[in-house]
Amino acid sequence: MSIHEECGVFGVISPDLCDIASIVYYGLYALQHRGQESCGVVVNNDGVFTSHKDLGLVSEVFNKDVLAKLGQGRLAVGHVRYGTMGGNSRNNCQPIEVNHQKGCMALAHNGNLANAGELRSNLELSGAIFHTTSDTETIAYVVTKERLRSNSMEEALSASMKILDGAYSLVLMTSQKLICARDPYGFRPLCYGRTADGSYVVSSESCALSAVGAEFVRDVEPGEIIVFTREGIKSIKEHCHHKRKRMCIFEFIYFARPDSTIDCVSVHGARLRAGELLANYHPAKSDIVIGVPDSGLDAALGFSRASGIPYGIGLVKNKYIGRTFISPGQDTRLDQVRIKLSAVEESVKGKSVVLVDDSIVRGTTSQRIVRLLKEVGAKEIHMRISAPPFLHPCYYGTDIDSEEDLIACQHSVEEIAKIIGVDSLGYLPLDELGTLIGSHEYCSACFDNDYPTLIPSDICKYKFENKLSQKQK
Ligand code: SF4
Repeated sequence: MSIHEECGVFGVISPDLCDIASIVYYGLYALQHRGQESCGVVVNNDGVFTSHKDLGLVSEVFNKDVLAKLGQGRLAVGHVRYGTMGGNSRNNCQPIEVNHQKGCMALAHNGNLANAGELRSNLELSGAIFHTTSDTETIAYVVTKERLRSNSMEEALSASMKILDGAYSLVLMTSQKLICARDPYGFRPLCYGRTADGSYVVSSESCALSAVGAEFVRDVEPGEIIVFTREGIKSIKEHCHHKRKRMCIFEFIYFARPDSTIDCVSVHGARLRAGELLANYHPAKSDIVIGVPDSGLDAALGFSRASGIPYGIGLVKNKYIGRTFISPGQDTRLDQVRIKLSAVEESVKGKSVVLVDDSIVRGTTSQRIVRLLKEVGAKEIHMRISAPPFLHPCYYGTDIDSEEDLIACQHSVEEIAKIIGVDSLGYLPLDELGTLIGSHEYCSACFDNDYPTLIPSDICKYKFENKLSQKQK
């Protein structure tokens, strides 16, 4: 599997001055699966912002001394990032901090704007100078511009939401407020919880709430803005129900952690259902069902339960790989598989194996996994995929950005089975996607071309770098 989610966001507001950076640290640690390229924390002590951001995993970027230097505070925001828009550079680390005419703010964002290019061009033409290549800076510009003519940051954010189009779940901190917002489609998850001492915690996923001892309160509604202050909570629903809800179905299949719930749907439950459906649609006469860690495991369990074929551990993941081995790029991908995964000979030797994974993108990773299993003696491999074939790019915060790279665009299912070296291959049927999450509406554009927004004219994820380097030439 080689798709990367863009980011995870986290924010805390505490009634008292406390070691708030540590809370964010543990929250980001629980969101690490959403982005491993860079991370950052901004602490707010009575309007004085102190930050630390760098490339690397949360455990590499932060240590006791760094957290101590961030000091105490009542508010803080944090971010983990995989750069789908704007490359992997220190400049693009978040949260972004901005000093504007009416104060200061720190902003962390998950998702991609569909109209980022257009907004950025207009801002540049009106004199804005960008310091990063990430579309989060575009959001910051739009919000601070609106702040000039608004009475409050929430009013500015509400006005900005009429301008921004696409996927954004964000946390924003001013000197006194923690504010979160989810785009009107609700592409990316966002929720909040409360701790026993009265702190409010906002997070991309509910798994990070439990990690800091917060009790889940609820999901942020698509289009909703929530303002947390010392005085309490205010919900602004001006933008709710203006768009058809389109939460990303792939969050349930791959991106989110199985112990999270999104919009009241358990991610683990959705994956189990995908496995059960696969067993019904694509049965196999095999000795064992195994999953590709991590996101294939739950669906493998579902397949096993529905088929009666025993579930086993056939692949083990090395969980302690640092950033060195998680750099984007086709050339490094083949070696990464062997470094990340090992096959369990005892489970698969001489057996017919059902291998469950969440997707096939380019096919190279699947090919390599199949080879690992064959090397330790798997007799037959029947691959089952808990998603339909990827046929279209995503513009909302993943790095599926080119149809040329998608193996299903170039080959039939039988051809793909041959290329990756399996005895049979079966995908989750497109019309069963909804079964995973009940009655919710969802985005499935990367599978069916049904885009909820206008498609951006320039789809290259490094378009701003390209433009910059062209200008420099
Ligand atoms: Fe999710 Fe695919 Fe929609 Fe992107 S296009 S938001 S990955 S369902």
